[in-house]
Amino acid sequence: MTAKIMNRRAVLRGAGLITGGLLLDSGVAHAATGTATRPVTPDEAWATLREGNRRWVSGTATRPHQDPARRAEVAQKQDPYAVIVSCIDSRVPPEIVFDAGIGDLLTVRSAAQTIDPLVTGAIEYGPAELGVPLIVVLGHQRCGAVTAAAHALHDGTKLPGDLQRIVEALRPAYERSHGDVDKMIRVNTMDVVARLKKDKLLASRIARKRLKIVGAYYSLDTGEVTRLV
Ligand SMILES: [Zn+2]
Repeated sequence: MTAKIMNRRAVLRGAGLITGGLLLDSGVAHAATGTATRPVTPDEAWATLREGNRRWVSGTATRPHQDPARRAEVAQKQDPYAVIVSCIDSRVPPEIVFDAGIGDLLTVRSAAQTIDPLVTGAIEYGPAELGVPLIVVLGHQRCGAVTAAAHALHDGTKLPGDLQRIVEALRPAYERSHGDVDKMIRVNTMDVVARLKKDKLLASRIARKRLKIVGAYYSLDTGEVTRLV
């Protein structure tokens, strides 16, 4: 019985569901965990992502942290440095476009990176439980979900099943974009950033300079991630 409980705790800890609490809030604690190269501040995390994206754009990706040694290194404990909130689109996998690997990123993906309370809870998890210093909301060029929503809203048609929920989530961005789909992609991305910044749990971490939330746009043509805010 005791062993079972311990196993469960170990599993939870491995998944990051039990943490060292306040210790994980400290950059010093991160450095002391043996992941000295892991970015600690929001700006360091953004710089690491930007460098990785530059490698991806230029065709010089190094595919870091993708070997069995890394798998073993993070098997018992994860210490990711960013949450990427991005679209489900098959052409925008965060670990590839930021040239990162196992244990580096928490990725939360939904159609057109739309959020609801359940998704927001998943986003909160990184900063609140693992001390992750950066959230990137990543929209992308020619987003199919945004395009489909724009057409449905323009024509006044309803999409089947829960697809209509995505359309409704994108309605505010549609109404401010005047039929320009690329503008709608950017407006929606910024809307998600604004909503996350108002999230109580995240806002308190932003106020303490432990977290930044960045909006960005991914070009399918060039592979480049451009910061929006
Ligand atoms: Zn998309």
